[in-house]
Amino acid sequence: MSALDIVGDDLKTELPTGETVRFAHLDYAASAPCVEAAAQAVAELLPRYGSVHRGTGVRSQTSTVAYEVARDVVAEFVGARADDQVIFTRNTTDALNLLARALPAGTTTILFDGEHHANLLPWPNPLRLPAPESAYEAIKSLKDALSVTKGTRVLTVTGASNVTGEIWPVRELADIAHAHGVRVIVDAAQLAPHRPANLDHLGADFLAFSGHKLYAPFGAGVLVGRADWLDAAEPYLYGGGASATVGDRPGELTWATGPARHEGGTPNLLGAAAIAAVCAALLVADRDALHRHEQDLLARLRGSLPDGVREMSLFGPDHPRVGIVSLALPGHDPARVAHRLGREFGIGVRAGQFCAHPLVRRLTKSDATATCESGQNALLRASFGLGSTTEDVDRFTAALGEILRS
Ligand code: PLP
Repeated sequence: MSALDIVGDDLKTELPTGETVRFAHLDYAASAPCVEAAAQAVAELLPRYGSVHRGTGVRSQTSTVAYEVARDVVAEFVGARADDQVIFTRNTTDALNLLARALPAGTTTILFDGEHHANLLPWPNPLRLPAPESAYEAIKSLKDALSVTKGTRVLTVTGASNVTGEIWPVRELADIAHAHGVRVIVDAAQLAPHRPANLDHLGADFLAFSGHKLYAPFGAGVLVGRADWLDAAEPYLYGGGASATVGDRPGELTWATGPARHEGGTPNLLGAAAIAAVCAALLVADRDALHRHEQDLLARLRGSLPDGVREMSLFGPDHPRVGIVSLALPGHDPARVAHRLGREFGIGVRAGQFCAHPLVRRLTKSDATATCESGQNALLRASFGLGSTTEDVDRFTAALGEILRS
């Protein structure tokens, strides 16, 4: 077994015909399966597990060390700078909500309508720009927004779209934002599982991602970024751990600084250790080989789509993307197709609007034939990663063709 092998890769499912087949998991973008490294990290900690930061015995000491080592590994994974904090959260949604509350008062958040709701909804004072059709248009739109806004502003942008899989021109946007003294937040929920998510390369001041999309499904996520705003902000959760001293009267208290300020309560050690184990495995993995494998699968899937099916894209068919493909199925309800793929063919995909309603509306409207029978502009999404095979892809495209013809 290698560290990046999938746990449960041979999961079987029974079809209505009585035949048993290997389950073809093509829904990695929702939650990726667990890899060995994460499972092992958890298994090793379970017999020694204790309270983090709160005790003196061997269990507590082991747990505290494991938790802080996990923080260091994540810092290395994203290339954290000396003045960055690594805060463990529940997931990306939690990380971005935490950050939204830590922005200096009155901050305007500039974002595009291509975002997942987790990066669309938390911001107190958002300036929403239309989803662009090209990197050029995104840059122009950002420049215009910067010229008509004043005061403290941040740009928040996804690294890769959870709908189209397209890589956003984060670095180019970040350079412009920085030239205007504007900080940059990157939602790396879909980027980190597929590509290196390095703060410096991306030009990010803050970055968030989820363990369960990074093969570590134990309930933890990460927020990394500049300490000054995080240390100046109200603690995300009031309580133990976040407080440094508490007096006898209400209001007589001082808050901790550093990650503890926003990690109130007992932290999720197993989640943090699992994320760190995957980060450590990816740090030493041959990322080029993983990338080539994924791009081969992507090309295979896109090259064998049944007639009439339309792949959704903002930036055009040749734009770089991760292993996520969303399809409009003219004349068919994606939810019913997804259901049949699961029940009759043992293939797991997702149908709907993927918590990105403005983007999906925009993508389906721009393609007049895309509106599905259910009238909800829904799409069918296939997404893959480390454990995916050519057989998975071939089964998907063949089954989709069969369903659409029937
Ligand atoms: N951002 C993107 C791009 C996503 O795809 C998702 C989830 O699908 C999220 C944020 C939210 O992630 P989570 O549900 O783990 O908080």
